[in-house]
Amino acid sequence: MGFADIYRRSIEQRDEFWAEQAQLVHWESAPKQVCDYSRPPFAKWFAGGTTNLCYNAVDRHVGAQGDKPALIYVSTETQQERVYTFSELQAEVQRMAAILLGLGVKKGDRVLIYMPMIAEAAFAMLACARIGAIHSVVFGGFASVSLASRIEDATPKVIVSADAGSRAGKVVAYKPLLDEAIRLSKHKPQAVLMVDRGLAPFDKAEGRDQDYATLRERHLQAKVPCEWVDATHPSYILYTSGTTGRPKGVQRDTGGYAVALAASMKHIFLGKPGETYFSTSDIGWVVGHSYIVYGPLIAGMATIMYEGLPIRPDAGIWWSLVEKYKVTSMFSAPTAVRVLKKQDPSFLKKYDLSSLRALFLAGEPLDEPTAQWIAEGLGRPIVDNYWQTETGWPILTICNGIEKAPSKFGSPGKAVYGFDVKLLDENTGEELKGANQKGVVAIEGPLPPGCMQTVWGDDERFVNTYWKSIPGKLVYSTFDWGIRDEDGYFFILGRTDDVINVAGHRLGTREIEESISSHPNIAEVAVVGVADQLKGQVAMAFAVPKDASGLVDEAAKLKFEGEVMKVVEQQLGAVARPARVRFVTVLPKTRSGKLLRRAIQAVCEGRDAGDLTTIEDPTALQQIRELVGG
Ligand code: AMP
Repeated sequence: MGFADIYRRSIEQRDEFWAEQAQLVHWESAPKQVCDYSRPPFAKWFAGGTTNLCYNAVDRHVGAQGDKPALIYVSTETQQERVYTFSELQAEVQRMAAILLGLGVKKGDRVLIYMPMIAEAAFAMLACARIGAIHSVVFGGFASVSLASRIEDATPKVIVSADAGSRAGKVVAYKPLLDEAIRLSKHKPQAVLMVDRGLAPFDKAEGRDQDYATLRERHLQAKVPCEWVDATHPSYILYTSGTTGRPKGVQRDTGGYAVALAASMKHIFLGKPGETYFSTSDIGWVVGHSYIVYGPLIAGMATIMYEGLPIRPDAGIWWSLVEKYKVTSMFSAPTAVRVLKKQDPSFLKKYDLSSLRALFLAGEPLDEPTAQWIAEGLGRPIVDNYWQTETGWPILTICNGIEKAPSKFGSPGKAVYGFDVKLLDENTGEELKGANQKGVVAIEGPLPPGCMQTVWGDDERFVNTYWKSIPGKLVYSTFDWGIRDEDGYFFILGRTDDVINVAGHRLGTREIEESISSHPNIAEVAVVGVADQLKGQVAMAFAVPKDASGLVDEAAKLKFEGEVMKVVEQQLGAVARPARVRFVTVLPKTRSGKLLRRAIQAVCEGRDAGDLTTIEDPTALQQIRELVGG
């Protein structure tokens, strides 16, 4: 069967298709039903079946390949390299699981993981899955306010953290940020488990903070069985930005996720047991969950966990790892490739990359020059894939594991099996069936296995945010614009909402605005995403100071700009810091008071600002135009 037939079957004979895929994972007891969609849009996949993510990722492989590499940890920040076999990984995960149990963590309890890219972070995720606890990994680049809002929402019993991360050789202390976040949060964890890397000395909260190394010693021989949980039991919460300042907790199940990942490893990522997978993402992002930790391990592959920059010690570091560990599938983001593109291209030719089947790129639009440059440089297929934190695995790509098909530059590919993707008219909800019509990329329910179950603790928000934005229809919106050509290839044209994508990282402009507004001398502010050659987009802020009398010259403005940036950095983290903060006397708004973000964005990008008949004060845009030199 070709891809078209398999795709059709996945939609029209959904249950048969997914029942087959379900055989790729271990079930302790078989599912009673494939998909229960009796309460749309809530889909229950494989209900009644029991399984365990950690079992599928680790224990299942110990028998046949216990002495084969499972987790390959490489840090060019601390010059460490360590290979854990499946047996060793199982032992470490059991130690971590025993520690968590000892700290009172039970099935269904939340454990928040705020860690750099160290092996212990993966142990902690897998240990949670092992005992049925729900992990919530928060990206280490986030600072106190972001972290506090996540602690408050997930109400973790325990937080696992480390003294510090490291970036370009510079130590980034985590503990002070964590302490401040716990202080800000109404919810307090019972315990904080600290992995001490010896990078940054930290204060210990008596009775709360626990030392990982000490507790690990006590549990060296720990045997902690996998807790068999229902397929619908939540495995994790991962927060993502939306159009409000409040992050959304994407809640994922267990069984559907295991099946979706196992199937994607076979049909999309071409992974086989005993091979090596290398994803350059971070465990704080969805790619890190699906394709650093769970996906490759479920497929019985070794996975490389890399802490460091792509250009340190030089721009050949990734390719040297591909050669050394015979990486077969690699996953990265267009931004990273654009960073490499500024370096000496001979690094692409320096190492033996013959093991590599393909380089998969996702997270942001892949522009043609970047795709061409890396495809030619590596001499390996480049496979773009489009998805979201919410879906957990690709919505659009080329499923080369099912049927080899050509890629088209600028397109992530076709709808993936299981995803009933439609283009809809934003205003009428009508389906746009013709070629090359621009519409909202939407997915008919039920979402396939592995996608979000709900927003953590807020079913209503899940329904209202994702399923009710298209008039007259209960359909999932991706909040992306897209078109589809006559061959069924999609092209993504940007977001329909106020979410921006900076270097593959998703940020909500509202969150940044809220942070900037907390500065005592800021009256109001607008943040927009502006096209950037390297990062895809950067955040630009236009703020109205309460008292502008001190901003007499450029130096004073620059000083104030630095102050505002510092606020964002301290509250949200360096990832959210805008590229510039510019000061204006008034913001462009409609007469009803709505910020004209798209007009601001257009002006910043040197485009036409569009229809401005509703603008309150036309001089507002003029000020911005003068500042950005348009
Ligand atoms: P995140 O949830 O952080 O993974 O961000 C998801 C968003 O990133 C999507 O809704 C798109 O706007 C964008 N995105 C992800 N992958 C791609 C891709 N391959 N091409 C274009 N945009 C992408």
